[in-house]
This record gives sequence, C-alpha cells and structure tokens, in this order.
Amino acid sequence: MEATAAAGPASRVLLRLAAAGSRTRTDLADHLGLSAPTLSRAVRPLIEDGLLLEDEPSAPTTAEAGRPAKSLRLAPRAAALLGIKLTANDLYAQVIDPLGSALVEVSEPLASRDPDGVVEQIAGLSQRIERSTGMALSGIGLSLGASVVDGTTIAVAPFLGWRDEPIGVRLRQATGLDTIVANDVRAFTHAEAWFGLGHGVDPFALLTLGAGIGCGLVIGGRTIAGAHGAAGSIGHLPLREEGPACEMGHVGCARALAAAPGLAHRASKVLGRRVSPEEIVGPTGLTELALDPQLAGVLEAASDAAGRIVGSIVALVDPELVVVSGESVGLVEAHRQAFDAAVERARHWSAPPPRILTRSFSFGEWARGAAALAIEPWTRAVEAGLRGSSA
Ligand SMILES: [Zn+2]
Repeated sequence: MEATAAAGPASRVLLRLAAAGSRTRTDLADHLGLSAPTLSRAVRPLIEDGLLLEDEPSAPTTAEAGRPAKSLRLAPRAAALLGIKLTANDLYAQVIDPLGSALVEVSEPLASRDPDGVVEQIAGLSQRIERSTGMALSGIGLSLGASVVDGTTIAVAPFLGWRDEPIGVRLRQATGLDTIVANDVRAFTHAEAWFGLGHGVDPFALLTLGAGIGCGLVIGGRTIAGAHGAAGSIGHLPLREEGPACEMGHVGCARALAAAPGLAHRASKVLGRRVSPEEIVGPTGLTELALDPQLAGVLEAASDAAGRIVGSIVALVDPELVVVSGESVGLVEAHRQAFDAAVERARHWSAPPPRILTRSFSFGEWARGAAALAIEPWTRAVEAGLRGSSA
C-alpha cells in the first residue's frame, strides 16, 4: 500500500515503515524517491519525538560485508489506533499499533442503533480504553456494511437504517480524535493488503460471504472506493436465469444464492420448515445444520455462485491473488469443485489460472481492518504536527 503522492516525506516514511517493517535509510530513500538530505530532514524529528527507532547494526561477519547499514523502524507504541466494526447488534473494537499488532480487543452489544447512541457508546469506549491502558489513542477507524462518501459520511447503512449520516464528523467532535469511516469489506480488504495475505500483492481481490456478499479490490496500491463509495457492491449481481429470488425480487442474484438469508430461504424449502439465517450461518462459521447432507445441493449452488463472482473479478482485473473469506467461507471449502468449475468457465482461455485462497476470520479481524484505516490519517496528522511546530 502506498501513500498518495501529495503526502509529505515524514508521512510517507511512517507509512512505508508501517507497511514494510524495518528499513535502511538507503532503501527508504530509493523506494520513496527522496534525496538523502530530504530523508534525513524528515526522519530527524520523528526520531526525536520517539516515533522512530534507529537500530544499531550487528557487527559484520566478514570483511567484505563492509560497514553495515543502520535500519529505521517504528517504535512499538508510535500510535494506538482504535478500530470499530458495527453489526446490526454488536460493536467489535480492536486497538492496534501501526504494525498491526493487537493491543486491546473488546466487543459489546450495541446499546442503541440510533446514531446519537452509537457516537456516545464509541466515545465512552475510547475513554475507558485510554483510562484502563494508559495509552493515548491516535485515531479511530469505523467500518460497517454501508456506502460511505469521503471517508466520513454514511450514504446508506441498510441494517442500521441510516441515511446521509455524517458519523465521522460527529465522532471527531465527540472524541477529539481523527476519524475515518469506510465500508466494512473495503476496510477488511485494506487491512488484508497491509498485514495479511494481500501484503505486496497487486491487484488484490477479496470476496466475503456471510450475512451479505461483498468484494474489495486493491489496484495500483489503493483500495478502490468507487465514485459514490459503492465499489464492490456485488450483492445483487445476476448470476442465474432461474432460481430463488432475493428480498428485492431479483431471480438468481448473488444474495439469493449465497448470502445467509438466501441460504436460509432455500434451506426452509428443502427441510419443509422455517429456517432462520442464524441457524445456517453463525458468527464463527457455518452451523452443523448448514452442513447437513440434505442441504448439500443448496451449498453447492452457493459455492457455484461464489465461483461465478470470482470468475468475473478475474476476467475484469486479472488479480495476482483472490482471497475468499467471511463467515460462510466454509461453503466454498465444502464444495470447492463447483466453485473452481465456475471460475474456470469465466476465465479467458489465454489467461493463467488465478491464485485463490480461502481463509476464515473473526469479527475481531473486521475491527482490525477498521483500525488499519486510521494508519494513513495518523501519518498525515504527525506530518501536520511537525509543520506546526517548525512554523
Ligand atoms: Zn438481489
């Protein structure tokens, strides 16, 4: 992941070290296209402020190795970034340092779905975390199933019933902390590109299967948001001419075939009783009922649907890697053949087979994704602080 060209040298150094770990000055200067004096000027105040550490090199083992280079790295507590993931009922929080290590993890039920209540709850939580750990938080990242505009305003969050809600500004006012807001799948994609399987992989695509179906794309070092914050909204993609319909009445759309409500609807027909989405997909994965042999056909069709989506992504952006995750990823693992066959049908005959990995995850990792959003704004705030103090 890269900073935008407009970011200053100190911000870019911090971001590079957050993404790549320990680096020599020569490597930093080369990678960021900075002259040695510009890099020195950027680095000096960061070391003085205790944000960067310069490690003494270990002694060279051979004479030919020459003078070993010192390396720079982020101080372990350079920043404490709070990530929050909201679901319809719960709030998951994780505090990370800029290298992605978890410092605190908590979850609690949402006291209210009303924006005022959510702002109050997050402000209270951030104060409690600061008091109990003695750490000063450096920023907040918030993620939820929503279309988000400009990193701050919720255009639509269907499961909370929010519309045009300036939640980022309100959280900033309530906490005094820089706040960035993003769609949850995009935040998770961002974190996966920073610290996870997508590290150093570009283009990188992530498909999540769960209560909904989402897709995140990293292209050219950026997590794509789209012109209206809705990139990757593939839930209602038509995949089949016939079959079940989603709640919007679309026959054979992705949600109808593979999201938890669609799976429950189809399971109800097979089992001849009403099955709720929660009976099929739990917070940590598919339930025992979902894996009942009677529902194999339902899951297989869902896996085929996931394969059709991944095949389309592959045809459109030729990713270096696709990760399939989410609470329902087990349906792809259980019916991998149907999934692979669907991907294969969509692949251009001249393109090499795509690299696809499945991975399970917890809601804590959604929160970590939200926290990762706050890294870049933190680096900019540090840079602005340096400019302020030298003015
Ligand atoms: Zn639909």
